[in-house]
Amino acid sequence: GESNSDDFEAARARVGEIRELITGYAEAYYERDTQLVADAEYDGLMAELRRLEAEHPRLRSQDSPTETVGGSVSPLFAPVEHRERMLSLDNVFSIDELREWMRKTREAAGGSVAWLAELKIDGLALSLRYERGVLTTAATRGDGRTGEDVTQNVRRIPSIPQRLEGDEHPELVEVRGEVFIPVEKFQELNALQVSLRARSVEEARTRWASRPAATRGEFDETVEFARAERRFPAFANPRNAASGGLRQLLEKKSGLEHEAGLARTASLRMYVHGIGAWPDPPVATQSGVYDLLAWWGLPTSPHARVFDGDDDVLAFVDERGESRAGIEHQIDGIVVKVDDLAMHDELGMTSRAPRWAIAFKYPPEEVHTTLREIRVGV
Ligand code: NAD
Repeated sequence: GESNSDDFEAARARVGEIRELITGYAEAYYERDTQLVADAEYDGLMAELRRLEAEHPRLRSQDSPTETVGGSVSPLFAPVEHRERMLSLDNVFSIDELREWMRKTREAAGGSVAWLAELKIDGLALSLRYERGVLTTAATRGDGRTGEDVTQNVRRIPSIPQRLEGDEHPELVEVRGEVFIPVEKFQELNALQVSLRARSVEEARTRWASRPAATRGEFDETVEFARAERRFPAFANPRNAASGGLRQLLEKKSGLEHEAGLARTASLRMYVHGIGAWPDPPVATQSGVYDLLAWWGLPTSPHARVFDGDDDVLAFVDERGESRAGIEHQIDGIVVKVDDLAMHDELGMTSRAPRWAIAFKYPPEEVHTTLREIRVGV
């Protein structure tokens, strides 16, 4: 009827509007390492878009943000084709939705399931390619098929091995993980920015003083301070600082900028959380994969747990929501995965995410409370 078509037109307009907003926010986030809105607002728009597309299937589209992996490849970096696609994760925002997801997934897997519960690290995804145990390429996620070549910077990250330990390594393996800046390091980095600002003003003063008195005029402190703030801004949060630290062209920097850039890559860390191309992993579970990767000297998270019961997973989600004590990085949720690798193949994936994993996202207040606590150093 008429009201139905009005309804459809309103939905179509809103869908167009949301897609445009999301494209703009994603571009700032993935390409310029900045954030125009809070994550919760971004997630809210995605949820609204998903709902509208479900209500009006005609509005669906293969290139909608709900169907693709957000991100792109900056022309500043050489493109790298991932052997196997890098995916995103589907989200749930409440305990009830998580419980329901576990029930359905167990049903689809046809029986009992061991769960692997991990912290969802608020960083950025990285893929490491090792050929016969030697690191050859490191790439960001990009659009999931093609990422950005950041090998040069990754070679400066202390915890990432150039060569794997042990002596039996696959011909080729893609190891995926999250790069982050530990909360403590983040504070140090911002303190360093402050001191670099001061040194930048001092340098300007020295240059000014070395010019002949007749030609140099007044030293403009205000202008120099403003300039120093642009050169060495305060980082808004560890995620954006990590992203900018991984995606920088160090060889084009000199002087104080080079020093700042070096400190930024040196403070990066990584925890592995998955595998891409790996024809025959000699293990049967994701947790077994981590054990093997750790054996090879790759950094694995000390916070992952295997649980048999759904209630144990929910308790884990609760505990980590209550207290982040002892966690060295920011988290924005919990990732629950099916531990059995054969079930991964059985369950498969959608166009943008595996069906054997889900991200539970904490409500924004909890994330922000933690952020504030971190800023004041609690
Ligand atoms: P996502 O962050 O919801 O989840 C997918 C990613 O989680 C994976 O690619 C992986 O890199 C990461 N991850 C962290 N810990 C993991 C673990 N233990 N196991 C597996 N993966 C783990 O999705 P996304 O596509 O990466 O990014 C979308 C999210 O980014 C949004 O939900 C929003 O929070 C944020 N974002 C914000 C803005 C903004 O403007 N504020 C813009 C774009 C994206």
